Amino acid sequence: MTDRRLPRALRQAMPLAREVAVEVAKQYGVCIRPVPLRRLDTHTGRWELIDVPCGSTLEAACPPCAKRNRQLRMAQCREGWHLDHEPTVTPDEPTEEQRWLVEFRADLQARREEAEQLGEDTADWDAAIEGVDAEINEAGMRGNVLGRTAAKRVRSTRRRQDAPDLPKRKMTSTTLGRTFTAQDGKVYRPSLFVTLTLPSYGKVRDGIPADPQTYDYQRAARDALHFSKLVDRFVQNLRRVAGYDMQYFATVEPQQRLAPHLHMAIRGTLPRAELKQIIAATYHQVWWPPADEVRFQGDHLPVWQDETGYLDPDTGEVLPTWDQALDQLDADEDAEPLHVVRFGQQHNIQSVLAGTPAAGKWLGYLTKYLTKSLADPLDATADNPARREHAARLVEALRTEPCSPTCPNWLRYGIQPKGAKPGMLPGRCRGKAHKPDHLGYAGRRVLVSRKWSNKTLAEHRQDRRTWVLEALGQPDQPTDPHRYIWKPVPAGDANVAPLAVRLLRSVAERQRWRAHLQQLEAQNLSATEGRAA
Ligand SMILES: [Zn+2]
Ligand SMILES: [Zn+2]
Repeated sequence: MTDRRLPRALRQAMPLAREVAVEVAKQYGVCIRPVPLRRLDTHTGRWELIDVPCGSTLEAACPPCAKRNRQLRMAQCREGWHLDHEPTVTPDEPTEEQRWLVEFRADLQARREEAEQLGEDTADWDAAIEGVDAEINEAGMRGNVLGRTAAKRVRSTRRRQDAPDLPKRKMTSTTLGRTFTAQDGKVYRPSLFVTLTLPSYGKVRDGIPADPQTYDYQRAARDALHFSKLVDRFVQNLRRVAGYDMQYFATVEPQQRLAPHLHMAIRGTLPRAELKQIIAATYHQVWWPPADEVRFQGDHLPVWQDETGYLDPDTGEVLPTWDQALDQLDADEDAEPLHVVRFGQQHNIQSVLAGTPAAGKWLGYLTKYLTKSLADPLDATADNPARREHAARLVEALRTEPCSPTCPNWLRYGIQPKGAKPGMLPGRCRGKAHKPDHLGYAGRRVLVSRKWSNKTLAEHRQDRRTWVLEALGQPDQPTDPHRYIWKPVPAGDANVAPLAVRLLRSVAERQRWRAHLQQLEAQNLSATEGRAA
């Protein structure tokens, strides 16, 4: 919002000032997309406007927040990998951050319902809610906020995932791996670093299919869509074989050919042969209705009828609902899963010993790409037409694949999506998985098991805060979790200062802290020198 009383020349210079403020903020590591919130201090009864860094709520954060989150992730990964004592996992009082997330979640829900009532697309809100739910879990709260436990469909036994044929050890409740004591009494704590890929879809040279005509884009798209489920299965099998509550810290990264792959730090170890056996035996079956025969496309699309649902445009017959389609699938003795996803032949297994330089190297590798989007290898070769075409073909294959039970693409195959509503258009699903930035993978980029370290990301963040406050000689008082009440700020609220002003304010604050820390350091140094002399 520009102040109309300012001279025209100055007004024109404003956008520039904003860009400069953003650049300065980046240099100081200050969030460039802060979320303004109103906070009521119940001790003083005063409302304040507070800027919350975007990175504390969203995974796709601004560059400074992404960088800071990456550092926190590295700390988290380092702490859990070679843990030598059981982590204590106790549900704590909700922290301020958790409370804030829950409030934020409630606001998103309200806006989603508003959008739905207006007949608008809710996909963006759904994606945001999903993201915040994940953050809430990450922040240490179990389950989802609504306390909703959706009634799970009971599937016939035949439809369950078959347990792969793998050795099975008796389960113990420990989360720690075995240690080995050498003759000299030294204790070794071996852990694993594993890289897993998806299968081949055709010959590839420098990330580009040698023959785009025969490259299996549909398989590549479906594998990417269900990759996170495959990873879940892998962890289940891993634990079953290992016989203990094996913990992991993993990141999902794009390969050059634009398929997702997984880097995983595992606490404890397994014989290499067993691990290879698990990788080969792990698969996930997608028990969705068939989506191979295109029934409706272009202008020839199912028609919505209020209180009935979607109808066949030719016969006027009501299309099967999602539940009906699943019942049909259950009743069909010869039904096959829509898709089966497995890992590829390419994998890498490394033994890592706690405290060795190799451990540090793999740690850097694990978190190397965390500040980038899945589609980043695309940017690096944006001037390469063959790569651009490869990406475009994959995105096109993803466009018509159903990404979830609620995906409008089911209409293409003559099935009403779960929760069908008017205005659904196949090929126009706004789910994250279809976006060129995600290339089919809509899951989280960082997967951390619950008992990895004793700390959630929020607690690692708190650690830093405590460290700074201690350095400044200010004791970090535990904040009363009920002290503050957070409220969202409506868009366009006149009390919120222009972004440039808010950014420069944060930079000034950061500068003050830095100066203060430097001053303290200098004092310490001269005190030590004084003693030495
Ligand atoms: Zn940010
Ligand atoms: Zn979709």
